[in-house]
Amino acid sequence: MNILVFFGPAGSGKGTQAQYLKDEFNYSHLSTGDLLRAEVKSGSDLGIQVKNIIESGDLVSDDVILQIIKDKILTIIEENNTPGIVFDGFPRTIDQARAFDQLLNSIDLTLNHAVYFDLALETSIQRISGRQIDSRTNMVYHKESNPAPIDVQPYLITREDDNPEKVKHRYQVYQNETQPLIKHYSDQLLTIDCMKSIDDIHQLFDELVHSLQISV
Ligand code: AMP
Repeated sequence: MNILVFFGPAGSGKGTQAQYLKDEFNYSHLSTGDLLRAEVKSGSDLGIQVKNIIESGDLVSDDVILQIIKDKILTIIEENNTPGIVFDGFPRTIDQARAFDQLLNSIDLTLNHAVYFDLALETSIQRISGRQIDSRTNMVYHKESNPAPIDVQPYLITREDDNPEKVKHRYQVYQNETQPLIKHYSDQLLTIDCMKSIDDIHQLFDELVHSLQISV
């Protein structure tokens, strides 16, 4: 089973490319952000515990994240119907990455590639500030550059943490906590320049997928 890690600032397109791997190649897409938001929506104890942290743009504790990830991986392995798993937004700290290395090792899996979606702060703010999400499917749109079709518009939501101030804060958290993964994953690292247009990012990613044959 292929194991891929995607990391990069908000708005770099990693969620979109992870979704592409899911749609085209039947990958399991594990977004820790989506999993946490689902907990908040369901009103579970965990959801209540993490709601304010997510909305502030800070990170949820490593212990909570690792437990969620562990449960999900074990379920996916048991189901045994996917060529790979793409981790979107996990790991996000060096401690998470180390614990993840150990977890993979303990279940005889290895990380194939860590894909770094490189993006500057200004572009992150610009892309995220107009972001709208279809609450039924999690499909992502942008008010100006990629408006949702009319029939989707009643279902659009804007995330609490998607305003410019919070995006700035999330970018800082990203620089402090997540950027060090570049060094941690230096042997498996692939970098995508995400300052390009969304279509160009997709093309670069698609070329990468085909050159690495990570679709099988
Ligand atoms: P995302 O959807 O990836 O932008 O994540 C939204 C929020 O969920 C983040 O700002 C964090 O509060 C939390 N979160 C998601 N993934 C992680 C993670 N791996 N570690 C800690 N917090 C996370």
